[in-house]
Amino acid sequence: MKPKFNRFFRKSILELDPYKSAREEYKNEGREMILLDANENPFQSSFNRYPDPMQVDLKSRIASWKNVRSDQLYLSNGSDEFISQIIIAFCEPGEDHIMIVPPTFGMYKVSAITYGVEVKEIPLILNFQLDTNAILQAANEKSKIIFIPTPNNPTANSFDAAEIEIIIKNFSGLVVLDEAYIEFTDNPSFIEMLEKYSNLIVCQTFSKAQGMAGIRLGMTFANEEIIEMLNKIRTPYNINSLTQRTALLKLKNQEEVKKEAKIILREKDRLIGHLKEFNFIQKVFPSDANFILIRVDNSSKRYNQLIEMNIVVRNTSNQFGCENTLRI
Ligand SMILES: *Cc1c(COP(=O)(O)O)cnc(C)c1O
Repeated sequence: MKPKFNRFFRKSILELDPYKSAREEYKNEGREMILLDANENPFQSSFNRYPDPMQVDLKSRIASWKNVRSDQLYLSNGSDEFISQIIIAFCEPGEDHIMIVPPTFGMYKVSAITYGVEVKEIPLILNFQLDTNAILQAANEKSKIIFIPTPNNPTANSFDAAEIEIIIKNFSGLVVLDEAYIEFTDNPSFIEMLEKYSNLIVCQTFSKAQGMAGIRLGMTFANEEIIEMLNKIRTPYNINSLTQRTALLKLKNQEEVKKEAKIILREKDRLIGHLKEFNFIQKVFPSDANFILIRVDNSSKRYNQLIEMNIVVRNTSNQFGCENTLRI
């Protein structure tokens, strides 16, 4: 293991001898082999064999699409799985903590608490922007990871790229930028900065613009040492055959994705125009994603009215700074 990153890793994980599945011990070199190594059912069907544990084809396709190397890429059962795995890999329970910037995506805190890892919250400031100074002041050597979703959920705005870069440069731990909604913005992805910052991790997902929430596929981009650690603690076949095949097909159809994103954004603008006609809607927050956050007079009342009309939105009022808001 290369020394530069050691200080981030949990000692027990660093020393862990990972489980090797049958298909990892034997590497197929393209010859036709009789596979008696994994106790599978030999009667052929589309699914009698275990999936490729290293997802070689899918990773090489995604790597060339995103202009990274395969060893800078990690695939997970949705971004949700990555979020818990990055915490397991780097945070010593009862000792280290993660940092989040509420109002924010709920899974970071839930995963951390589940693994006995403390959470430090540094709320957003005016216009739902990052409080960069407060973040850097609150950070110490136990701050292993900060999670920053941009565009942010539930507020829908992107954070200022220059502020994000200041955090990456000065934060002593890992900076996870969750770009679940990146396809809906004009902002460039921070994947471009991977070579420049070794503590930068970017995650994206097939669940939103790609229209594939059902297959559960998350993509994580980081330097190869971080990816190696994630691979160590991964369950052996975490991306199933159906998901790998379906994602490969989807990658061939990115024109469709772009077309759909355009339509979604056009419809969003149309909806925003009409929302402004209602006097009980006090504010429509700027949106850089496929959803809108609004402030209303009484969020429970409006939420229930919509339910009566068979429309389900998200009542985000219990989130920090989001009193009487709905996410649509
Ligand atoms: C929707 C969303 C995700 C997606 O998670 P998956 O597990 O990949 O479906 C991740 N992060 C944020 C901020 C989201 O809003």
